[in-house]
Amino acid sequence: MRSVLRTDDLSLPDAASIFDLADWLLPRILPPDGPRRLKLDGLRGVSGALLFYEPSTRTRVSFELAAKLLGGDVVGISASGSSIEKGESLRDTAMTLEAMGFNLAVLRHRCADAAELFAGRFSGAVINGGTGRGEHPTQALLDAFTLRRHGLLEAGRGVLIVGDIANSRVMRSTAELLTRLGLRVTLCAPPSLLPPAWLGEGAPYAWTPDLDVALGKADALVLLRMQRERMDGAAHTGAAEYAKLYGLNARRLGLLRPGALIMHPGPVNRGVEVGEAVFADPRCAINAQVGNGVAIRAALLCWALGKDPRD
Ligand code: ASP
Repeated sequence: MRSVLRTDDLSLPDAASIFDLADWLLPRILPPDGPRRLKLDGLRGVSGALLFYEPSTRTRVSFELAAKLLGGDVVGISASGSSIEKGESLRDTAMTLEAMGFNLAVLRHRCADAAELFAGRFSGAVINGGTGRGEHPTQALLDAFTLRRHGLLEAGRGVLIVGDIANSRVMRSTAELLTRLGLRVTLCAPPSLLPPAWLGEGAPYAWTPDLDVALGKADALVLLRMQRERMDGAAHTGAAEYAKLYGLNARRLGLLRPGALIMHPGPVNRGVEVGEAVFADPRCAINAQVGNGVAIRAALLCWALGKDPRD
């Protein structure tokens, strides 16, 4: 059993074997020409708790779908309606689920260290499904996998991550993994949306505030949502001003390289970070990412639980 709490829990060979399995699973999970050819039973005997204490559509549904298509049993738990409302701690929830014989837990939580805390009291595999401003390792895997399927997961390729860097766990996980894979990550944001410590020397990634200049140098874009739920009430850029300065619109599509890929973890704010024209552009991979996310989460679950549906 292996847990994935952060992207650096995965070595590069681990990531490569997850990508290979996801490549095998994808046409079976989402066949281009007809109904799914699963059920496989790669996860038979797996009993999983999906604890989603923050809102989620893509991540929660793709974990559930992936586990079910591979023959695993999963139970969804949300904050409302569970004992968390009565003040039960995450530690006690972990011990309770362990006592019920669960051997897998996927956790989304508003605290950055929640997955570590949970894993300290749970002996099965723990997968971080997105924690606070901390990490979102399965988003990083699916972003890298999407680049790989487009032939862009190559050392030296430039990836531009645009928007609310300060509040983004996607940025932290995706930038870490892509950098380790040899890609060049540049952040593009106004100073107000960057962690203050990253403005000076010693910043972990290159940074530019000028989207129009940066667009022409990128092989791929990762657009981020303004995560207002994590903003502290300080003065922040309004939606209209953000769209003007950092939104990908029809004019900016013209500045982007012909073979570049446009990604976004979702949910998108249409008309703010993503203009309508983006969805009609052949470089837009936002929907492809969603399908890739199911295959990646299926592959990761198999890897974490030591199972291989190809056997
Ligand atoms: N879905 C992603 C996350 O959970 C990105 C977002 O919410 O904007 O972090």
